[in-house]
Amino acid sequence: MLEIKKTLTSSPRQKPCQSNLGFGRYFSDHMVTVDYCEEKGWHNAQLVPYGPLCLDPAAMVFHYGQELFEGMKAYPAADGRILLFRPEKNAQRMRTSCERMCMASLSEEDFIQCVEELVKADRDWIPTEPGTSLYLRPFIIATDAMLGVHASHTYKAVFIASPTGSYYPDGFAPIRIYVEDEYTRASRGGTGYAKCGGNYAAANRAGVRAEKLGFSQVLWLDGVERKYIEEVGSMNVMFKIAGTVVTPKLTGSVLPGITRKSCIALLQEWGVPVEERLLSVDELVSAMRDGTLEEAFGCGTAAVVSPIGSLHYGDISVTVNGGAVGPLTQRLYDEITGIQSGKIADTHGWVYRV
Ligand SMILES: *Cc1c(COP(=O)(O)O)cnc(C)c1O
Repeated sequence: MLEIKKTLTSSPRQKPCQSNLGFGRYFSDHMVTVDYCEEKGWHNAQLVPYGPLCLDPAAMVFHYGQELFEGMKAYPAADGRILLFRPEKNAQRMRTSCERMCMASLSEEDFIQCVEELVKADRDWIPTEPGTSLYLRPFIIATDAMLGVHASHTYKAVFIASPTGSYYPDGFAPIRIYVEDEYTRASRGGTGYAKCGGNYAAANRAGVRAEKLGFSQVLWLDGVERKYIEEVGSMNVMFKIAGTVVTPKLTGSVLPGITRKSCIALLQEWGVPVEERLLSVDELVSAMRDGTLEEAFGCGTAAVVSPIGSLHYGDISVTVNGGAVGPLTQRLYDEITGIQSGKIADTHGWVYRV
C-alpha cells in the first residue's frame, strides 16, 4: 500500500459541456504522482491539483524516450459507485511494458490504488451522458538528469484523468482504411508489445500520409516481410471471414489489447469460431475479392469497437459489408459498452467497483 498524501484543489475548474467533450481535451481537477529511486522504491505518493510538472531539462525522458503509458476508462454506476473495466489487466500490461523499457514498475496493487484515489477525488468529473466516460491515463517517465545513454535510475509515475465524449457522436461510422506497405510500426524483438510513447512517435508519419490521402486509419503490416496484418491505427484488428473471426496472433510486435482479449472471450462464448494466427494481406485481398470477408473492425479502449467500411491496398479498393456496420461488430460494441457501464450483468468478473 502506498501512503498517498492528499492536497485538494482550492479552485475547482469549470467542467466542460458534456455534449462536446471529444477525446483527451479536458483534464480533471487532480492528478496522482509517485516518485521512484533505488534507495526508497516508490515513494512520495501524492494526490495534488492538476498542473505542470517541474522537470530538469536533462531528464532522460526528453532525450531517449524512456516513457510508457496505459489507457482505461471509469464509468458511473446507477448506485453511485464508479466502475472500472479489468483494471488489473492494465496494471499487468504496464509491468510488462516497464520490463521491456528497463523501467521501475508499480505493483498491481499500487497501480490500482492510484487509479482509485484519482477517480474518487474527481468523481464529479465522470460524465454521465450515454457513451461518455472518464478516460484515465497513467504514465511513467525517466527522470535522471543525465545525458549518458543508459536506463534511468529514477522515475515518476503520473495519473491524470480526462472526461471523454462518445467516440461516435453521430452514431457508428465505418472508417476508411489505408494498408500501409512502406512504413511499419513495430518488428519482432522491438517494442511493439509495450505501450510506449516511442511507438506512437514512429507511427505518425504513416498516419499523416494516410490522412492526406483521405483515410482515417492505417492498417499496419509486419516489420519484416510487410506481408502479415498486425493492427489498425492504435487498435487491434479483427476480420470475419466465411463465418470465422480471424485476428493477428500476438507475435511480439502486436499490442496485447484488453478489448481484443474481451472480444475473443465473448465470441467464444457465443459460439463464433475465433482464430488467432498470422493473416497475410494477400489472404485478406482474396477474401475481399471472393466475397467471404463479411466484417472488419478495430478494437481498443478509446473506440471500443470501430467498424471498417472499406480497405485500400495499392490500387485495390474494397467495401466491407456494403460500407455498413456488421451485425457481429454491433453486437460486440453493445455487449462491451453494456458491461462497462453496468447496464448488462457482468458474468465474467470484468467490472471493478470503486
Ligand atoms: C492501447 C493499444 C491498443 C488497444 O489496447 P486496449 O487495451 O484494448 O485499449 C491496441 N494497439 C495499440 C498500438 C495500443 O497502443
